[in-house]
Amino acid sequence: MADRFKTVLLFGAPGAGKGTQGELLGKIPGFFHMSTGDMFRSLDRDSEAGKKFESFSSKGELVPDEVTIELWQDYMSKRIAEGSYDPSSMLLILDGLPRTVNQAKLIEPLIEVLGIVHLSAKDKEAMVQRLRHRAMQQNRTDDAKEEVVRNRLDIYERETRPVLNVYDASLVHEIDAIGTMASVLCSVLNVVAPIQAHHAAG
Ligand code: AMP
Repeated sequence: MADRFKTVLLFGAPGAGKGTQGELLGKIPGFFHMSTGDMFRSLDRDSEAGKKFESFSSKGELVPDEVTIELWQDYMSKRIAEGSYDPSSMLLILDGLPRTVNQAKLIEPLIEVLGIVHLSAKDKEAMVQRLRHRAMQQNRTDDAKEEVVRNRLDIYERETRPVLNVYDASLVHEIDAIGTMASVLCSVLNVVAPIQAHHAAG
């Protein structure tokens, strides 16, 4: 990994819609969507790493930083080797990482952050409802429990929100997370399309 990956961070509390927007962006040529939550959920449940993930996620807690970054590097190397991610031509949309200030420091030599899309909502209850709805639809065990959801939101406020202060304020784009999928996508594209066009023009 010689050059740092050109990256936009999808930032926001659980339930803000990072995964939904990331998936939509990932369908557009020139973008590569990577979600650490999806990476963890794709682990073999019986493997050492899979069991470790389950022990944290079932309580709504974060996986330790070093393990997360190591798995992420391994995951990215595989995507490059199989040809699904070409760092020289694609913009990386990173969803769910970094989630602590320490992760931001550990990942700094590996990614060049060109922008941060901060999906936020004033109505916290709307986010909790979204999480509940998704838990039922996707059979997710973590967000099915009220206390796990509350813990995830507390951890976000305590450990993840301060990550925003690591980066220059000019990189942060505030986007209202409440709205239709299409209208939120429109706002997200207004931020990321020019960044991707600039990267593609190289
Ligand atoms: P998500 O789908 O992004 O809400 O993530 C689901 C779970 O995966 C979280 O509750 C954490 O246990 C774990 N996770 C995802 N991303 C990270 C990260 N960057 N650092 C530590 N744990 C993570």
